Amino acid sequence: MMDIQKNILKKYFGYDRFRKGQEEVINSILQGNDTIAIMPTGAGKSLCYQVPAMALSGITVVISPLISLMKDQVDTLNEIGIKSTYINSTLTNLEITERLFDAKDEEYKLVYVAPERLNSGEFLNFLNEAKVSLIAIDEAHCVSQWGHDFRPSYTRISQTIENLNERPIVCAFTATATSEVKDDIKKLLKLRDPNEYISGFDRENLTFSVIRGENTKKFICDFVENNKEQTGIVYTSTRKAAESIYEALINKGHRAGIYHAGLTDEQRSKMQEDFSYDNINVIVATNAFGMGIDKSNVRYVIHNNMPKNMESYYQEAGRAGRDGEKSECILLFNPRDTQTQKFFIEETIHNVERKEYEYRRLQDMIDYCHTSNCLRKSILEYFGEENVDDKCGNCSVCNDNEEKEDITVLAQKIISCVYRMQEKYGAILIAEVLRGSKNQKVLKFGLDKLSTYSIIKEYTVKEIQEIINKLIADDYLVLSQGQYPVVKMNKRSIDVLKGKEQVFMKINKKVKKIANTGNELFDILRDLRKEISTKENIPPYIV
Ligand code: ADP
Ligand code: MG
Repeated sequence: MMDIQKNILKKYFGYDRFRKGQEEVINSILQGNDTIAIMPTGAGKSLCYQVPAMALSGITVVISPLISLMKDQVDTLNEIGIKSTYINSTLTNLEITERLFDAKDEEYKLVYVAPERLNSGEFLNFLNEAKVSLIAIDEAHCVSQWGHDFRPSYTRISQTIENLNERPIVCAFTATATSEVKDDIKKLLKLRDPNEYISGFDRENLTFSVIRGENTKKFICDFVENNKEQTGIVYTSTRKAAESIYEALINKGHRAGIYHAGLTDEQRSKMQEDFSYDNINVIVATNAFGMGIDKSNVRYVIHNNMPKNMESYYQEAGRAGRDGEKSECILLFNPRDTQTQKFFIEETIHNVERKEYEYRRLQDMIDYCHTSNCLRKSILEYFGEENVDDKCGNCSVCNDNEEKEDITVLAQKIISCVYRMQEKYGAILIAEVLRGSKNQKVLKFGLDKLSTYSIIKEYTVKEIQEIINKLIADDYLVLSQGQYPVVKMNKRSIDVLKGKEQVFMKINKKVKKIANTGNELFDILRDLRKEISTKENIPPYIV
């Protein structure tokens, strides 16, 4: 059978093959199914509705929130011989009427509109009179309150489609991967039994590492020193930290830059320019840095702190290696990062449901920092990809040559302690009881009877806590939601207790080395509070 899709791809777009996932999505649409596709930015979502638009008879209407990009996209399509137009508020009424008239005559294969257009009677008439075969909703997360840029006019889309005399095929595209957002899109757009595709999240040229228990400033300075010829980004969670690392790098004679919301507009655009033109080779920045960064030769992205969720992490880390060359993404984890992120949620989010949502996302991030499974697999599975290989052979977990230990007995001790403490306490208290501590908190909760002797002698409280986190990350235990989560058991915990399942892990003895004084944490939280008040880092749905 002739492959229409491939012909269109070659003839108009000049590409020889589809990227991962594109063909499945296109086939699903061409078979007449409602379809939802989740692919990261840059994966090539546009092609997934442009190719069907050319293969189907009639018109494809594309709903897109970005008026500023519509003209560019339409110009590009016309250049490659795909007749298209856009209808939006930048046009005069006369122009709109003319374009709709021509569209009705099928002078165009694709018509781009902003969702606001669905309020216009003229446009709704057009939809009913023209032969519309496909409606493609780009940036479909805008329909969801859980998404990061909710657009009220997106909620009109389903009503508009319901009111049509003939229902076209409907397909939705987004890069936002949480299941909350995905379910919302399906529900609010009233997709009919849609086929779902999630793909293209893998970035094969990136190497992922999580490093725990390092002095991060020293690590970063050494790394930059050893990679002087390379360009990189260092992300920090506070401006203070950005400044301190920046100064350290400058003092060591590196061509470093700094970027955060506390700088003036001029300072920031200067830094951005210096970075783009390779006047500096490393930039230390808060998450204010990134929007619109399209530098292709970034060889490393180091996170000085754990970000607030996997989506932020992958987006920031993903700024490495856009040119397809091998690049490194290193996350430096310190247990106090958990504290700062929780503090941040408490300070900035006041809606109860939203708070739980953010805590859940934070926990996924924490689990990533502790997992004994392949990091690439963890990322891809987080983003919903299926049938991922167990080992990528190219992340800090896979590369770790040190053999994992059989820690089944240790895990059994911990799990039985969780059981005896009736699944009511957090990791620290469990660790203290396991060490036989009789501190105030242990006494206050009446746990001194349980804590009569040290059940685990060979590890410190900090180390035991770390091991508990690892057991949680790999699903041998679970953590309840919220600011003060408690450790609970699941079916797997019981299998381990009964000896039905063994636990293998690499235990990082370094943990105890990081001085984690209360004062240090206090300083960080104080800085954060100051910075929060200037609204940096705060996602748009909160302000
Ligand atoms: P997204 O909307 O998913 O962010 P785009 O649709 O804007 O991504 O596509 C990103 C880039 O990838 C574009 O330059 C596009 O031409 C290119 N692209 C898409 N599909 C292919 C393909 N099969 N082969 C090569 N390049 C492709
Ligand atoms: Mg796009």
